[in-house]
Order: sequence, then structure tokens, then C-alpha cells
Amino acid sequence: MKKYDYLIVGAGLFGAVFAYEATQRGKKCLVIDKRDHIAGNIYCEKIEDINVHKYGAHIFHTSDRAVWDYVNRFAEFNHYINSPVAIYHDELYNLPFNMNTFSKMWGVKTPDEAKAKIAEQIAELGITEPKNLEEQALSLVGTDVYKKLIKEYTEKQWARDCKELPSFIIKRLPLRFTYDNNYFNDRYQGIPIGGYTPIIEKMLEGSDVMLSTDYFDFIKENADTAQKTVFTGQIDRYFDFCLGVLEYRSVRFETEILDTENYQGNAVVNYTSHEQPYTRIIEHKHFEFGKQPKTVISKEYSSEWKSGDEPYYPINNDRNNELYLRYRELADKTPNVIFGGRLGQYKYYDMDKVIIAALDAVKTEFGN
Ligand code: FAD
Ligand code: UDP
Repeated sequence: MKKYDYLIVGAGLFGAVFAYEATQRGKKCLVIDKRDHIAGNIYCEKIEDINVHKYGAHIFHTSDRAVWDYVNRFAEFNHYINSPVAIYHDELYNLPFNMNTFSKMWGVKTPDEAKAKIAEQIAELGITEPKNLEEQALSLVGTDVYKKLIKEYTEKQWARDCKELPSFIIKRLPLRFTYDNNYFNDRYQGIPIGGYTPIIEKMLEGSDVMLSTDYFDFIKENADTAQKTVFTGQIDRYFDFCLGVLEYRSVRFETEILDTENYQGNAVVNYTSHEQPYTRIIEHKHFEFGKQPKTVISKEYSSEWKSGDEPYYPINNDRNNELYLRYRELADKTPNVIFGGRLGQYKYYDMDKVIIAALDAVKTEFGN
């Protein structure tokens, strides 16, 4: 008799949603994580009474009413709207690209004037079908915005030439001809009051949890633990990298406590030139409209990833996507293991999409 129905590898959002739903259906789950805390990349740590987003700024946003209702069962969300600003040398612009950005860039006032300016800038480029991020960005916003707000930031973020990156990366950002600085187009948005970790705590109620436990060590001694495994770690590592290594970008955070109440006046400030080596500075208190006497900031440095480092962003280029599909074929032939989440499915997933993917896996597994 196995002790558990499910061994869930990874106490991040995917693993926690699966554990919660399985527990609700009377199943017994053991959740393990190699880190010494739950919540995966949405983990928040309290510093100076401020919820610090330890693995990068996380703003929940979705257009899916069912997902919004689902997370609201686990937390109350505040009315935070993400409106980052970008600093290029001594100039400051609103993001995402909207009339505030264009007005500051060119002195234009109306949408027609902004569109005319962009059309004038891209006329001589002759881009019909954008083939990469550079062509996509140029054709959407023209040369000035590309040069000041996209090119160097993207080079810092991905350490690759914009011509070698897929165009979908830039299409994540809204482009608007209205004076609207909301970074997302989604209908619902906010930050859970008290941070993300309590959401995962609630989801894991009823499951057994073991931290600081790497699956590959654990399974050597405990092969008989559960009927099935839900694996949210790296899919290529599961198969011992037998087909090759999937690539990632990594991120390094330098977090400082400052003896000032308000350092930059906004939660997110992007630095879009090479002048600063970091991509952005996060001032965590502004996610929850904090009034604490001190502040905590994190400078975010994008870095090359090598095997063994913390993987953050999958690099979804042709080489990696094809390699992933070959691992996927192996996964499909592996009985009693469900691969999920951003590492198990090698996907640039937002939180709402991870919840949808986990609920889909639940549906496939339990049929309801
Ligand atoms: P994870 O949170 O990574 O969980 C996987 C867990 O598995 C980890 O805890 C890991 O330690 C564990 N694990 C891995 N291998 C093993 C092993 N061998 N043994 C045991 N445990 C293992 N999404 C948004 O919607 N809004 C945002 O603003 C946003 N900002 C982001 C900013 C950054 C810098 C990054 C990198 C991502 C951002 N995301 C954002 C995406 C969001 O972080 C993910 O969608 C979500 O955290 C994925 O959950 P997951 O469970 O798939 O993965
Ligand atoms: N981007 C940019 N300038 C900015 C912000 C974003 O050029 O000031 C580009 C960059 O290529 C980035 C992409 O837009 O990778 C997506 O940005 P987003 O903020 O969605 O990235 P993430 O939240 O994944 O860090």
C-alpha cells in the first residue's frame, strides 16, 4: 500500500492548486520542494513589515472571471494597478507605450498625431511581415520609442540581439492611443493583501509538506511513496538531460533596506539604457500602498543561466521549443507522472495561466 495518492514535486502555484483540488477530492498528497519555503516564485518575505517579492515583482492580472473568483477564495486583493515608468538617461516616460509616452517623446497631443509620427518613422523601413522582436517593435511604435525604451532594455533582459528574439515577447505589452498607463489590458488586477505566501499556505492545508527536499534525492530512498507524481520541476532534468539542456534566462536580485520612506515614488521603475546594469528597481511597499518608515528596494539584474542555477524565463526560440517537444514525447510515454507549471511545461506562463493549466490537469485526472 502506498502512503500517498500523489507526490507533488514543487510547492509553487501549479503544485499547490493541484494539491488543493486533489485534497478536496479526498486524496492524500505529499508536497515536496527543494527550497526551504513554500510558494515557489511567488514567495513573499516580510522585511521591515513590507512584503518583499523575493523572486521578482508579481502582479496578478487576468481576464478570466473564473480564475479571478478562484484566487479570491484564498485572499482578498487590493486595487493596485501596475503603471511602471521607464528612465532612459535623464528622460522619464510612462509605460506601457501610450499617449503619455508619445506626448512626452514628440510633443504630440492627439492619437492621430502620434500615429502619423510612427507612420513617418517606419515608412522607409519597409517591414511588411515582422520576423523578429526588432521588426515587430519598430513596426508598432517607430524608431524613437524602439531606441529609447525597447532596444537596450531587451538586450539587457535577454542578452541577445533583438533580431534573434521572437516577436511575441514584445506583444505582451499593450500599445494604446489613449492616456492610460495601466500595464495590463486584463479586466481584473491586484495584489493579495498580505502577499502571496498565505494563498499557497491555504492551498496546502490538508497536504503533508516537506521542504529542503530535492526530488532526485528523495525518490532514491522513497520510490514507493505515492501512486502518482505531479512534477513541476525542470522537464529536461527529470529525464537526466538525455536529449540536451533547455535554456533559460536567470535573474539576480540585489535587495536593500533604505532609511527613507519613499525612494522612487512607484513600485516599478525600468531602466531602459545600458547606463545602468540592472533592468529595473522594485520598491515593494508600493504594491500595498505601504506607509512604513523605511523602504525595501530590489535591483533586478538579468543574467546568463547555466545548469544548476535558478531557472527563471524559458527561452522559447526554435531550438528550445523543438527540444521541449521531444521531451514532451518522453513525458507522454511516462506513466503515472503529470508534468506541469512553467518548468514542467517549459512555458513563459503568467500566474493566471498556471492556475488554468493546473485546473485543466485536475480535470483530466479526476474528470470533474
Ligand atoms: P514555480 O513557482 O517555479 O514552482 C516550482 C517549484 O518547484 C519551485 O518552488 C521549485 O523550488 C520546485 N522544484 C523544482 N525542481 C525541484 C526538484 N527537483 N525537487 C523539489 N522541488 C523542485 N506572473 C504573473 O502573473 N504576473 C507577474 O507580474 C509575474 N512576474 C514575474 C516576474 C518574474 C521575475 C518571473 C520569473 C515570473 C513572473 N511571473 C509573473 C510568472 C510566475 O512567477 C509563474 O507563473 C508562477 O510562479 C509559476 O508557478 P509554478 O508552480 O509553475 O512554478
Ligand atoms: N520591454 C521593453 N522595455 C520595457 C519593458 C519591457 O523593451 O521597458 C520588452 C522586453 O523585451 C521584455 C518584454 O517587453 O522582455 C516583456 O516585458 P514584460 O514586462 O512583460 O516582462 P516580464 O514581466 O516577463 O519581465
